[in-house]
Amino acid sequence: MIDPKPTASHFIDGAYAEDDNGAPIPVIYAATGEEIARIHAATPALVDRAIAAAKRALPAWAAMTGTERGRILRRAADIMRERNRELSELETFDTGKPLQETLVADATSGADALEYFGGIAATLTGEHIQLADGDFVYTRREALGVCVGIGAWNYPTQIACWKAAPALACGNAMVFKPSETTPLCALKVAEILKEAGLPDGVFNVVNGAGDVGGALVADDRVAKVSITGSVPTGKKVYQAAAAGMKHVTMELGGKSPMIVFEDADVENAISGAILGNFYSSGQICSNGTRVFVHRDIKDAFLTRLAERMGTAVMGDPMDEATNFGPMVSDGQMTIAQNYIAKGLEEGARLVAGGRRVERDGWYLEPTVFADVTDDMTIAREEIFGPVMCVLDFTDEAEVMTRANATEYGLAAGVFTRDLARAHRVAAAFEAGTCYINTYNDAPVEAPFGGVKSSGVGRENSKEAINHYSEMKSVYVRMGDVEAPF
Ligand code: NDP
Repeated sequence: MIDPKPTASHFIDGAYAEDDNGAPIPVIYAATGEEIARIHAATPALVDRAIAAAKRALPAWAAMTGTERGRILRRAADIMRERNRELSELETFDTGKPLQETLVADATSGADALEYFGGIAATLTGEHIQLADGDFVYTRREALGVCVGIGAWNYPTQIACWKAAPALACGNAMVFKPSETTPLCALKVAEILKEAGLPDGVFNVVNGAGDVGGALVADDRVAKVSITGSVPTGKKVYQAAAAGMKHVTMELGGKSPMIVFEDADVENAISGAILGNFYSSGQICSNGTRVFVHRDIKDAFLTRLAERMGTAVMGDPMDEATNFGPMVSDGQMTIAQNYIAKGLEEGARLVAGGRRVERDGWYLEPTVFADVTDDMTIAREEIFGPVMCVLDFTDEAEVMTRANATEYGLAAGVFTRDLARAHRVAAAFEAGTCYINTYNDAPVEAPFGGVKSSGVGRENSKEAINHYSEMKSVYVRMGDVEAPF
């Protein structure tokens, strides 16, 4: 087993950096409640050093060919895969998520992003636009400059890579701030990028709480901010970025619907509902937490769901047999517990779970409520914990209106065997990421992101390139210039 203690609290200009004057941040292992490391928040001097290093590194990095930049990113992807076990153990220490998950979903997903964007770096070009009389315009795809990445705590390795890979492929430099709850993994990403040949200063990590994020966003030297976090934080960051007219990508929260029609393959729909509510102990932004089940199959669905929930293996996340781990923190567990109490108070029917597990760490049982109505708090607000709400419906038009009646629009899913209905429903969903007969896939090849309050911009795929670069138009006149006088 790896030692989770980091070499130092930050990674700046190609090396670990420390300043003991920063506020101490204990790193707590969610499975035991024990402190496994202690770091210090970045002081203003360190934040300044990180941005200055990125700014300094930028011109040479942006001037390299896409092929050269891509080679470094792809080398980093290979190193991440070689070290997958070590990185997965670290991810488990950082978040509490079971090793069974982290071995296949975190460093591997980060490596996919580095490989994908490393692969397309050499293909990024502008275009040639022909005008009259031989005149023409060509466009140059240029880097934005210093980008700031700010992460949530649920996927610390993946979020760092999903932001760094497209940013760096386009020739930007980045300063990344992880969530203070999970400060360990992004440091390893920086270390691996350095080992892969990334020039010093191109990717920096500064740890700390919201004030460190705020200082980064406010800095005049920063051209773009990409944040993964909650809607309230996203709104604050968007406002602060607007003050400096900075580019933004906002990957925020959700309360996504999953609709199970009467003709669905019920076993598959239950698998989708389990994946979309209990993977990572329910701490996933795109989770389908409002499961609308057609009245004709509701009883069969709930009976079989309860049976399958009984087979969840809760326990030591480092044991690969464990498939349901603790929540990330005491605080997040309390938030989920309060929502469970609210659900009971407002009349939802508890079908499974609902209690804290009697053992060390922040374990909450996977919980299912049935007979949930649209007006209940648990059906309206993002819980970000292992709590599934099952709601009934009978009619397609009715369920579509209800599914879309939310300020969120991150994801949405439909289970049906009716092909035309599946596509009609997907088209009608007010959501950025939709699923037909599956849930929560997030391959790097496809755009990921939300509409309405759930976000602005897209991560992954070729779309992300548009959010980390801008086009310069160069007009060329072949003949004389006509002027009115
Ligand atoms: P928060 O919104 O609390 O925090 C997100 C990040 O922003 C943290 O690093 C936080 O620092 C930082 N931050 C807080 N205040 C500011 C500020 N004023 N300026 C700059 N940065 C700030 O989210 P959580 O970490 O609690 O993550 C859970 C949320 O993230 C959920 O709503 C979830 O839906 C969403 N999420 C969205 C995803 C998506 O892709 N759409 C994916 C994963 C999660 P710190 O916490 O250290 O104080």
